[in-house]
Amino acid sequence: IPQEFTVALPLLQQIRAAGFEAYFVGGSVRDTILGLPIHDVDIATSAYPAEIKAIFERTVDTGIEHGTVMVLDHGEGYEITTFRTESGYQDFRRPDKVEFVRSLKEDLKRRDLTINALALAPDGTVIDMFSGLDDLKNKTIRAVGDPTERFFEDALRMMRTVRFASQLDFKIEPKTLQAIKANAHLLEKIAVERIQVEWIKLLLGKNVVQGLDAFLETELFKYCPQFATREQALRKIAKLPQLKLVDELECWALLAYVFELTPKQVRSFLKAWKTSNDISMEVQNVLSILEQATPDLDPLVCYHAKERATKAASHLLDILQLPLTGAKLLQTYTALPIKDKAQLALNGKDLIQTLGLKPGPGLGKILNTLEQKVVLGELANDKAVLLAQAEKLSKELN
Ligand code: ATP
Ligand code: MG
Repeated sequence: IPQEFTVALPLLQQIRAAGFEAYFVGGSVRDTILGLPIHDVDIATSAYPAEIKAIFERTVDTGIEHGTVMVLDHGEGYEITTFRTESGYQDFRRPDKVEFVRSLKEDLKRRDLTINALALAPDGTVIDMFSGLDDLKNKTIRAVGDPTERFFEDALRMMRTVRFASQLDFKIEPKTLQAIKANAHLLEKIAVERIQVEWIKLLLGKNVVQGLDAFLETELFKYCPQFATREQALRKIAKLPQLKLVDELECWALLAYVFELTPKQVRSFLKAWKTSNDISMEVQNVLSILEQATPDLDPLVCYHAKERATKAASHLLDILQLPLTGAKLLQTYTALPIKDKAQLALNGKDLIQTLGLKPGPGLGKILNTLEQKVVLGELANDKAVLLAQAEKLSKELN
């Protein structure tokens, strides 16, 4: 039993002592049985939110309308959610109404996949009402109950299915796969932000090729932003022999590269996917390296790209087998005499005080020239050297 459970166990026991049921549920149970590390432990209970709040001293209403109360304990927050059923689903996404119930079985029934519908009791027994354990053993992703019905209730579940096929390297059970093929268009109803989360997890998974194949075969891709006309490019990604991405930046940069996007298109593409704003610049920096990938790459390109983008580019160079190795790029970056303008041995203030220069574009120009020469190794990053050079440059400018 992982330590994340052991430390949360007293919470379950407290709920039980108050006369209610409480279990660990969801991804943490699945991952523990698979021997994988777990991140967040989810707790499900027969107690209603008000009853949970009466049991614990420190609670936060994080999702009270869904029945979730966060309990604070030894500096950790634990999400405790009341057993619930969902009904309605008029709009193929969230249910019209959430109903709290006292039965674990009802709660497990509304979960998406059999491997996600397991509960772990405080005594270590696993409650398995939909053969989730068999599916874990046989590496199978299967919807709980009738897949078509379940995807009608919430179309995001289709993306979650292909995401888990990649993340866990599991096969999708034929009826479940068939139901996705028949209903892929329902994905249009789902908020892009939620699709994005699953898409990135798919790309970061253990068997990306399998996840991508399912994503393409079921035509889910047609209902994702700016993917509909790019099937061939997406297939190209699935064929990359060394495909192994480590973070979100690498995912978006790889897509932008294979889609051959211009900087302007990168911005609109990422906007359509509702990514965070700051990733757009980083993606463009990665692309600037990939587009100039030759063994004699201009060091200024990776200097301007900065560390994070250079690292991402180094992985992508190898994945795309471009004519510059990732190792060589990192070597170039590591060898840069300075990594940032702030490391220049001379600044604008020095120029004004020592050489009596006036603030303005001329001064900026001199500093930029010095910076560039230092990065390229043409000048030592030494104050006296740089001052002498600056003096020369300012005379030339006048
Ligand atoms: P991860 O390891 O990525 O967190 P997870 O399975 O824990 O995977 P969560 O989004 O944290 O995914 O959800 C926790 C649990 O809630 C799931 O295991 C599943 O039982 C249930 N669940 C999540 N999303 C859905 C959904 N769209 N439909 C039905 N049940 C869901
Ligand atoms: Mg989770």
